Amino acid sequence: MILSGIQNPARDYRPFIIPVFLPHIGCPHKCVFCNQTAITGEKRKIPSPGEISLCINRFLDYKGEKRRRVQIAFYGGNFLGLKQDDIRYLLHEAAKFVTEGRVESIRFSTRPDSIDDERLDILKEFPVATIELGVQSMDDRVLAMSRRGHTAVDTEKAVCLLKERNYEIGIQMMVGLPGDDEAGALFTGRRIAEMKPDFVRIYPTVVLDGSLLADWYKKGEYVPLPLEQCVTLVKNLYLLFKKNRINVIRMGLQASEGLDKESTMLAGPYHPSFGALVYSEIFLDKAVSILESKKNDMISIKVNPKNISKMRGLKNRNIEILKTKFHIRSIEIIPDMTLAEDMLVVD
Ligand code: SF4
Repeated sequence: MILSGIQNPARDYRPFIIPVFLPHIGCPHKCVFCNQTAITGEKRKIPSPGEISLCINRFLDYKGEKRRRVQIAFYGGNFLGLKQDDIRYLLHEAAKFVTEGRVESIRFSTRPDSIDDERLDILKEFPVATIELGVQSMDDRVLAMSRRGHTAVDTEKAVCLLKERNYEIGIQMMVGLPGDDEAGALFTGRRIAEMKPDFVRIYPTVVLDGSLLADWYKKGEYVPLPLEQCVTLVKNLYLLFKKNRINVIRMGLQASEGLDKESTMLAGPYHPSFGALVYSEIFLDKAVSILESKKNDMISIKVNPKNISKMRGLKNRNIEILKTKFHIRSIEIIPDMTLAEDMLVVD
C-alpha cells in the first residue's frame, strides 16, 4: 500500500456569496480582454434599491436555512472607482441585510489603483469584510500590453493599505494575457504569494466578442493558450499557492449563458469544469508518481468519496492514461470514507 497526500481544494473558505453585478461601473477605461456585459448579461447601470433587494432576496431564498457565512458581493466593475455617493448608496442598501441579521458582511472587487486612504475611510461606516483586487499580473510590461493602467507597485501599495485596516484580501490573477508566458505567470504567482493574501482566484484569458483582444485575435496578433497547456499552468500556480498556504477559491471562469455562446466567447481555454480539470491533473500526477515505483497489472486506488471523479478525470481520462503508461490491465477506484480528502492510497 502506498499513501500520498494531496494539497486539497480550499475547504473552509466557502462563504455563500450573493453577487450583485455592476458591469464596468467605476472602470476608468476598458482593459483589452474585458467585456463584463457579455459575461454577466447585465446592463451597465447602478441598480435601484428595489433591484438590489430583489436580487439579494432571490439568493437568500435559494440558500435555504443552512448555516453558513453569507456575503453580498459587488462584482463586475471597479467598486472603489465609483463616485463616493454611489459607493455609500450601494453599501447602505447591502448593509440593511446585515443589520437584519440575514447576511454577515459585504465584499467587492476593485482595481489596485482605486485603493487609497480617502476611499477606504468611506468603508469604515459599513460592514465590509473582504476586498478582492483585480491584479491580473505583477509584470508591468504585461499590465501595459493589457492596458490595465496600473502597475505592480500599485498592487503592493494597495495590499499594504488593506492589511493595515485588517480586511480579508483576495487577489485575482490571469494567465495567458498578451505578452505573458508560463514563466511570467509563475513570476506573478510568486509575487502574489509574497504579499500573503487570504485567497486567490486564477482566471484564464479568453477572447470575448466586443473586446480589443477580439480584434487582435481576428488579425492574428493574439493567440490564446490551448486548454491543456492552460490547465497545467494553472495547476502549477495552484500548487505554488497551496505550498504558501494561500487558498485558491476559483480556477477558471464561472460558467454562464454568455460564455457558452460561440458568438460571445470567440476563443480561448474556457471549460465549464476548468477547476475539475486542474484537480484531476493533480490526482493523476500523484498516481503516476506512486506507480512509477510500483509495477502491477491490476491495481486499486482508494480516495475519499468526494474525490472519485477527480481521480477518474473527465470521461475516465486519468484511468486510460494510467493504464496505457504503466501497462495496467485493470484499475479500480474505491471510495474510502476513512481517507482524508487529501489522501490517495494505491494497493
Ligand atoms: S478588467 Fe476590471 S477594471 Fe478592466 S474593464 Fe474589466 S471590470 Fe473594468
